[in-house]
Order: sequence, then structure tokens, then C-alpha cells
Amino acid sequence: MNEVKTPKKPLIYYYIIAILLLLLFQFLAMPLLTQARIQTVDYNTFVSMVEEGQVGRAEIQQQDNRILFTNKEETMVYKTAMVPDDDLTTRLLDAGVSTSGDEIEQTSLLAEILSWVIPIVIFVALGQYLSRKMMDRMGGPNAMMFGKSNAKIYVKSSDGIKFSDVAGEDEAKENLKEIVEYLHDPQKYQEIGASMPKGILLVGPPGTGKTMLAKAVAGEANVPFFSMSGSEFVEMFVGMGASKVRDLFRQAKEKAPCIVFIDEIDAIGKKRDGQLGGNDEREQTLNQLLTEMDGFEGNTGVIILAATNRPEALDPALTRPGRFDRRVPVELPDLKGREDILKVHAKKIKVAEDVDWNKVARMASGASGAELANIVNEAALRAVRDGRRFANQSDLEESIEVVIAGYQKKNAILTDQEKKVVAYHEVGHALVAALQTDSAPVQKITIIPRTSGALGYTMQVEEGNHYLMSQEELENKIATLTGGRAAEELVFHSASTGASNDIEQATKLARSMITRYGMSKDFDMVALETVQNQYLGGDTSLACSAETAAEIDRQVVELVRRQHEKATKLLEGHRAKLDEISRYLYEKETITGEEFMEILKK
Ligand code: ADP
Repeated sequence: MNEVKTPKKPLIYYYIIAILLLLLFQFLAMPLLTQARIQTVDYNTFVSMVEEGQVGRAEIQQQDNRILFTNKEETMVYKTAMVPDDDLTTRLLDAGVSTSGDEIEQTSLLAEILSWVIPIVIFVALGQYLSRKMMDRMGGPNAMMFGKSNAKIYVKSSDGIKFSDVAGEDEAKENLKEIVEYLHDPQKYQEIGASMPKGILLVGPPGTGKTMLAKAVAGEANVPFFSMSGSEFVEMFVGMGASKVRDLFRQAKEKAPCIVFIDEIDAIGKKRDGQLGGNDEREQTLNQLLTEMDGFEGNTGVIILAATNRPEALDPALTRPGRFDRRVPVELPDLKGREDILKVHAKKIKVAEDVDWNKVARMASGASGAELANIVNEAALRAVRDGRRFANQSDLEESIEVVIAGYQKKNAILTDQEKKVVAYHEVGHALVAALQTDSAPVQKITIIPRTSGALGYTMQVEEGNHYLMSQEELENKIATLTGGRAAEELVFHSASTGASNDIEQATKLARSMITRYGMSKDFDMVALETVQNQYLGGDTSLACSAETAAEIDRQVVELVRRQHEKATKLLEGHRAKLDEISRYLYEKETITGEEFMEILKK
């Protein structure tokens, strides 16, 4: 169905309509009303009426060349043309007609009133209409309920989410289970004199299940659950957000014990920096939130959960003990966590029996819960597309690539030479990775172009969990990244644009080693860069003098160059293998890690 939206009309449009209506009234309706009251008669009738004493008042209007007169009771107004008549005045005097005094009213009282009332009515109607329209635009009649919180209330488990639906994240669940237990049996805690934290802050990168955990708490605790996003407090007028906060807490206290969940709390909880032109409304809202959190006792049974992926941006007053004093990290899942999350989501689709979940989880290293859920769904979609009734291992592996690199470009045609260059480039990465003992083995190499723009890629798989990386491992990683370009140079004696992403990553890694990990002799353990938002891309800012910055740049170049040379040497030493595997990849377009290792070990 095509819904046709009427375009929004500008305000001026309504004013023009109102003015037209007024003019219409003034020039058409008013004369009609006036006319209705005045009767035109001929001069003879006038004279005979005067003589018969039927005229009450008369007014001679010289310039209009007419006479207005009324009947004796002054209920009717007559008009007649003036005829040169010298006796007129005497005749009027004789008949006792008054010619002085007030002007004869040409309009009736009704017309007079109408001429006042109608414009007012028009403008009031216009005002009403416009304000109604504005209300619609702001989201229904509730928009006028300024300062009322519009928190959604879930009672019991609304979406039926339980802790068992949230895979991995065991530490977070452990923490929150305590809250659930407290809400079930507060007595147990009060007897010992323990008081529950008032606020719990869930922090972590996007898509790791923070919202899900909060919902699961509500599902498990069986208490009312108020859910609101931080941005919903942000209002146009100063004080409105604060009033929403008050309203939310009033409702929560009435319903205690209960849970209040504020998603994306950084929308209101940002540091107050006191800069000129600060956001008054947001600060008021934050102040109110701080006051409210102080205002209730620890054991009233109101527990506030909040989620954010920018904990460093929060106001310190918000995170001090007594407010959000407990911080629960919800990190990206580790290998085991990824496997569990995949399995939880796999329950929703039909999957072949023999899927190796551990392998899928290893391939999807670094993926968040939301991405893993997406991978499983993509696999199901792919199975349907291919007319199968179950998703199998290859569906899952392909969908990881879809999520990482986009769909296969079906009709991107590389020239023969380009394809050769890409094959050498990818094998260069893989070979350098495999030849350095510490680098992770290669899972798969492909030279099928993807919608993300990648012309090919090498998927490396970490065998286990990695929490620490040594300097050597980092250097090897840089060498692997430069391996692609090194192979191109070695074979074709020229460089191509294909390495831009590798260069970016290698530079970033090298820079971090020097400025943040203290892996440069010259700077020892000095932090030269600080990470700004750890969970959102990890932007960094340099904090050093210009000379140091120049020195850092020099060392970064030096570091990358060393690794580039190392990669070139490794490839030179294995030139035959490089050629053989590249030719094989060129023909097959996709080869697995096993095939790769087979040729390498031969
Ligand atoms: P966040 O609030 O941290 O950004 P959400 O809780 O909204 O993330 O998670 C988004 C989606 O990702 C969920 O609906 C769920 O399908 C999936 N997901 C994330 N983490 C997990 C997990 N630990 N277990 C199962 N599913 C998860």
C-alpha cells in the first residue's frame, strides 16, 4: 500500500487563510448586513411621511447627496435621494423632526457585535487548530503531558527473557543474580544489615547484551520493571526532563520493590563541564537524577540499572558510592562465550547435526553477541536461498564472511592480471602468518570480491583465548599485514592500492605499541596517547610535545619498515611455495587452511 503523505504546510499559509476570511467578511457580509436594515424610498414618500408625522429623526448628508431618516420608533432606517427643496428645513421643523443629535446608526447591533466576534472566532479557531497540529507532530496528546515519564512498565517477564537466554557473561549474571535474590527475599539481607546498591551500571561495547541482561533481571525477579532510554529524558524545555525523572521515581517508589532501567544513560549523565553555552536542560535532568538517587534509602527496594558504552563520559557524581556504585562490565564474549551465544541463537533455527560450533566460534573472533545472532540468522537465510531445510557448517562459515566482509559480488569481474595480483597478495599474508611461529594459522583464503570492497582476504583463526599479546606477537602481526604488499613487490615489482586497509591497521598497531604499550626503548613506560572511548572504536588523543610527536612518527615508520623487510625476506626464502599456492588459489578462488598447509608442508 502506498501511503500518500500530505506535505506539511507552512504557518504563513494558515495566516493568509485567516486574513482572506476576514476580508471576505468585511467586504461581503458586512454590507449585506447593513443593507438589510436600510430601506430605500423615493422623495415623495419621505415628504408624505414627514407630513404625517411618521419620521423620528433625519440626517441630511450633503456630500453623499442623500437623506437618512428613521421612523417614529427609530426601529427602521430609510434612505432617499436629495432633491433641491428650499422648504425642507422648515418642513422638518414644523413636523418636529429632530435633525441634530447622534448620527443615525446604519448597522444593527447584531452586525456590530458580529463584526467584533467573527474575527476573534477565526483567530481562536486558527490557534486551536495549529496547537493541535503541533501536538500531533510531537507524538499524540501525551506530548502535552509535559514532565510525565513515559517509562514502559514490564510486569513479570514481558518478553520471557531469562538469564538462561543470555549466554556467556557469567560474571555479569552472577552480579545481577544477587539483585534478583534480594528482591525475592530482602529480609535475608536486612537481617545482617547489608544494604543493596542503589544503582548498577552495565558497561560494555554495543551489542554485548546489556539491554538483554536488564530484561532478564526483570524476567527473573518477578517485580515491576520500568524501562526508559536516557534520551527520552531530554526535552526541549529546561526542567521538563527533571520533572520526568521525578515522575519516574515517584511511580517506582509506589511500586517498590521494582527495577528501573535507564538505557544509554550517557545521554543525560554526561560530565557537567561548566563550559559556556552548556546544556542547561541536560544538567538539570542530571541534577534531579542525582537528588532522587540520594533521596531514597538503600532498602526501599527500588534498584536502578543503567547501561552505557561510554562510562568515561559519565559525571563522577553519578558513579560515586551511594549512586551507581556497582559497575558490571559486559565485555565482548570470549571463545566459550561465543560458542554458547551461537548455540542459544541456533535453537531458533534448524541446524544440521554435525555443525562444529567451536570452529565457527573461533572463526568469529571479536564478534559481539548481536553480531553472532546476526551470523546465525544469515546462515538460516542462506539455507533457504539454496533450497535446503537445514543450515549447515558452510552456511555458518559463509555468513561469518558476510557479516565481516559483506556479500559476494556476483558480477564484479577482475581482469586476469588483477586476479593474479590479488591471489599473490592474499597468499603473501597467509604465508608470512604461517611462517612466523607465533602467528595464528590460516583458516581460509579467498579472492572472491565482497560488497565491502575487499577483493579477497585471509581469515586467520585464533586457537584459544588471547588476553595478552607479547611484543613479538604484535610485531609478527604487523609483518603479516605487510605480507600482502611484500608479495606484490616481490613478484610484480610494483605496488597496488589493494593494501590500503593493511597499511591502516599496521600503522595503528605500530603506533599503539609505541605510544600506549611502552614498547619503545626511548619512551620507556610513558603514556603518550590516551584512549578516549574504549568501547566505541577506541579513538586516541596524543598528549605530548610536538618534538615527541615527530619522534613517534619516526619510530612508527621504522617499526613498520622493519616488519615489512622481515616479511619480504620470509617470502623471498619461500618464493617457490608462494608461486605454487598463488597459482592454486588463482584457479580455485577459495582454499581452506588445510589445503594451504598441505602445499606448504609438501
Ligand atoms: P546492548 O544493549 O549491549 O547494545 P542488546 O542487549 O540490545 O545489546 O543485544 C542485542 C542483541 O544481541 C540481543 O537481542 C541478542 O539477540 C544478541 N545478544 C547480545 N548478547 C547476547 C548474549 N550474551 N547472549 C545471547 N544473545 C545476545
